[in-house]
Amino acid sequence: MNLIPLPAFSDNYIWMLHDGRKAVVVDPGDAQPVLQALQRDGLQLSAILVTHHHADHTGGVDTLREATGASVYGPARERIPEPLVRLGAGDHVEVLGLRFEVFDVPGHTAGHIAYYCPEMDGSPLLFCGDTLFSGGCGRLFEGTPAQMLASLDSLAALPDDTRVCCTHEYTLSNLKFARAVEPDNQALSQYTAQCEIKRAQQLPTLPSSIRLEREINPFLRSRLDSVIHAAQAFDAKAKSETSVFAALREWKNQF
Ligand code: ZN
Ligand code: FE
Repeated sequence: MNLIPLPAFSDNYIWMLHDGRKAVVVDPGDAQPVLQALQRDGLQLSAILVTHHHADHTGGVDTLREATGASVYGPARERIPEPLVRLGAGDHVEVLGLRFEVFDVPGHTAGHIAYYCPEMDGSPLLFCGDTLFSGGCGRLFEGTPAQMLASLDSLAALPDDTRVCCTHEYTLSNLKFARAVEPDNQALSQYTAQCEIKRAQQLPTLPSSIRLEREINPFLRSRLDSVIHAAQAFDAKAKSETSVFAALREWKNQF
């Protein structure tokens, strides 16, 4: 199976999975990069997976459905171009012979979902939309800090070797913030150096892994003393788990 991030707009990736014959794409905000890849590699689009309703994740859905007849899957509780198969926690979807489990991950939007395949070519695979980014997390447009913290907890509990396919190349700016939170985190410094080399060569920093994100992502580390203290230096009133997480997110918004 091939796993390819198709660049779109200024910093989106449309993830494509294909077996040389059939393809699946995730969050096609723009149809054009997908149509080009299908044509270049002689692929047939069999399914479109959508994580949430934002235009940079759904803008290409209608065009791709019309051009290819692909089935569209998306969150049960969001406004997404019909027709689509509506999914929520506990559902699963089979594409290209792979079985994806669906998780509810509210926070960035109220009905955001993620797709998790426990095994593809030897390791798990996660399409998490704008919930988890490498070194960061999505902004809280519709959900509460408590919801986002619970959503990130559910993703952080996945196996270490899970490949994390996020929808944006935000890694370097996220890492700049992460280093302000944890200046003494060695893994974070090393990872930043690796990502700087990749970006200088215009290569994607993704996919990341759950193991790595647990080591470097402040939003998965908000219960550690060092992160709590840093968050409290930003907002002295942040005492509970949720308020520490909320302070981190607010600090990042202003960073
Ligand atoms: Zn979004
Ligand atoms: Fe987005």
